[in-house]
Amino acid sequence: MNEYIKSLVEQDKLRHTLKPTKEYDWQYYKIAGPCSIEGPDIVEIAKEVKKAGADAFRAGAYKPCTFPVRKEVNGWKEGLQKEGLELLKEVKRETQLPIVTEVMDARKIEEVGEVADVFQVGTRNFQNYTLLDELGRQDKPVLLKRGTWATLDEILGACERILEGGNNKLAICLRGVVGMPSYRHIHPTMRWAPDLMMIPALKEFTGIPIIYDPSHSTGYRNFVPPVSKAAIAIGADGLIIEAHPNPDNSISDPAQAITFETLTKIFKIW
Ligand code: PEP
Ligand code: MN
Repeated sequence: MNEYIKSLVEQDKLRHTLKPTKEYDWQYYKIAGPCSIEGPDIVEIAKEVKKAGADAFRAGAYKPCTFPVRKEVNGWKEGLQKEGLELLKEVKRETQLPIVTEVMDARKIEEVGEVADVFQVGTRNFQNYTLLDELGRQDKPVLLKRGTWATLDEILGACERILEGGNNKLAICLRGVVGMPSYRHIHPTMRWAPDLMMIPALKEFTGIPIIYDPSHSTGYRNFVPPVSKAAIAIGADGLIIEAHPNPDNSISDPAQAITFETLTKIFKIW
């Protein structure tokens, strides 16, 4: 740790209570799956994800879409919701992979928790304090995705909130921030800019594991492998990646979805 930060810690001058030396109970570093559960083929998809080397499976049942009514396909509207959670139970039975899935509302913790091994907090709920406080009282891991606007202090403060409740099963997910990606006129799906430097910045203050999301942070599949390598090189502990059997046909986030072949290669980086 740098001397200046060390002196701030010693003098108790930091505004947050996180200690760089505290230990966290976390065991998921290679997380992958489609953006959302689209139907029963999710079970076969999960088998492929496991073969690619994942240690946990991600897929959203509840999906907060930027435009909620624009996209509706065969019963999928902002996700398959309860039906999606039922399908995830089958995924778990068939693959034994731990399930990472989003919870958007404190009132849904029990329902989502019936199948989730890890509660994912999406970027839009990063500062939903009712949700964070309640997750702090749970005995289950939380993957907290950074708000697209959040400062270092806001990240540490949101973590503090979960830790204060007594839950130290926590990881931070960096998933890109608002900015002006300079290729956006060519790839309009690049809605955010990668936030790689926040990895070493957070490491100065906390030992909370950092899971980097090269899918949302780039929004474009060709950039997923190089940004994955960069994230690991700069100190990320793990990755969460969107992969799909037919990437272009994904209901949500098609442009950033990669094939299982590419996923396999990425998971060999470390
Ligand atoms: C997701 O993981 O599919 C997702 C919606 O992510 P974020 O909350 O980071 O946009
Ligand atoms: Mn997504």
